[in-house]
Amino acid sequence: MIKGIFIDGEYKESEHTFELFHPHTQEKVEQVAKGNEEDMIQAIDSAADAFQTMKQMSSVERAEIVKRAAEILQQRSEEFAKMITLEAGKPITASRSEVERSVQTLLFAAEEAKQSNGQYIALDAAKGGEGRDAFTIYQPLGVIGAITPFNFPVNLTVHKVGPAIATGNTIVVKPASQTPLSACLLAEVFIEAGLPKGAFNVVSGEGGQLGDVLLADDRIKKISFTGSPKVGKMIKEKAGLKRVTLELGSNSALYIDASVKDEMEDVVKQSVSAAFAYNGQVCIHTQRIYVHKEIANEFIEQFITQTKSLPYGDPFDEDTVLTGLISEKEQKRVLDWINQSVTAGAELKYGGEKIETGIEPTILVNVPKNEKVVCEEVFGPVVVIQIVESADQALAEMNDSDYGLNAGMFTNHLKQAMKMAHELEVGQVLINDVPTLRFDHMPYGGVKSSGYGHEGVKYAMKEMTNMKFISIHYQ
Ligand code: NAP
Repeated sequence: MIKGIFIDGEYKESEHTFELFHPHTQEKVEQVAKGNEEDMIQAIDSAADAFQTMKQMSSVERAEIVKRAAEILQQRSEEFAKMITLEAGKPITASRSEVERSVQTLLFAAEEAKQSNGQYIALDAAKGGEGRDAFTIYQPLGVIGAITPFNFPVNLTVHKVGPAIATGNTIVVKPASQTPLSACLLAEVFIEAGLPKGAFNVVSGEGGQLGDVLLADDRIKKISFTGSPKVGKMIKEKAGLKRVTLELGSNSALYIDASVKDEMEDVVKQSVSAAFAYNGQVCIHTQRIYVHKEIANEFIEQFITQTKSLPYGDPFDEDTVLTGLISEKEQKRVLDWINQSVTAGAELKYGGEKIETGIEPTILVNVPKNEKVVCEEVFGPVVVIQIVESADQALAEMNDSDYGLNAGMFTNHLKQAMKMAHELEVGQVLINDVPTLRFDHMPYGGVKSSGYGHEGVKYAMKEMTNMKFISIHYQ
């Protein structure tokens, strides 16, 4: 059976298919069922029917299903990790970490399923409200439409499915065309865990075509999207009164203060890993580093030395850190942006060349501010290091961006750290950590072009429910 479309608890045949290629070798790995408008409508029908069952289910039943899904995912973890590596070209060790995180994300959702408590409201605080008790409850919205990107095909799908099921919603997932199969495996896991058939459906196929069906259907009460700002903005424009959560891209920045001079080796180690993990194809990849002039030379020298030791190779090799980019088109775009910045005066300290289907880890210093590698999202193995006179200059330059997802800093000055934390225009600030850090239960969302709304299990759950107010007049 060709996989790609999973509706009402089983795979569905399709007349249309597309070829899936392994990003590192560009070899064909699978033929995938390609859904059309009719398939998407069938998936929404199925999810709308299953909602009648899901909305009657107790919190404890929902919690148990999500917990069982976590256990099955744990048992099948190696199969999932290999699938991520095959579809997304992610190094196998990073794929294993992604699966481990996904198990945890599901466990958080299972715990939160039992905690969706409302609030007592003292109505007698208002004149005329005497003799009444009142409280709020949270109810599921109905069918959630989820659209996911290629770079964390399991965990970012789990970040939508876990909260949706934990709150009694049903879901239709449109996975990225590069990574349709791991979403299908996840749907299998939930059905095996006892989820009613139809509560979790997957339709692979063209983003624009299938996204428009989700957006046009009134039974879809919310769109939860993770992907590029360009597509996110289009979705928001078309969403009308549907709820929307948009988890979009960034050009995340990190400040290195002179006060961490004595911790340089560790700071550099974390920064190198944050800049080049999964070839920089991470939404919170460390793209811009602002380093204080007093330690800049030493930082850059150590940064180059450590970068040189990153192994490039087959993502299935245990030692590999850098591999091929997701597509030839992306490889070409990133190389163009590097070359443009060098022509404009950036100092190329390391890398900048194509290797097979990838790009060498690339370090650019003192790059003109209007270059794309500074002000756009690179989404490739490129880091820009800018030398600054002060923390205030770093703060101003970090904020000089259309994006605002995560920001980080290494500093031993408490006042400076707190001032920056308050003034940085981002959703999350990490003090004494790189911006490329996310724990799955923390609130997570962007400002500016980085997004709208929050994920992070319990925060996603709030956005997938309606608060209802109930009062009782007892006197
Ligand atoms: P993308 O091109 O925006 O695609 C994301 C999803 O949207 C895919 O499923 C895609 O389907 C679909 N899509 C494409 N056009 C659409 C349309 N017109 N209407 C509705 N859906 C449409 O992003 P990507 O290249 O997969 O992922 C990289 C981006 O995601 C980066 O910008 C990254 O920063 C961002 N991201 C953000 C976060 C976060 O949490 N903030 C996390 C991870 C990634 P097809 O694949 O079929 O085109």
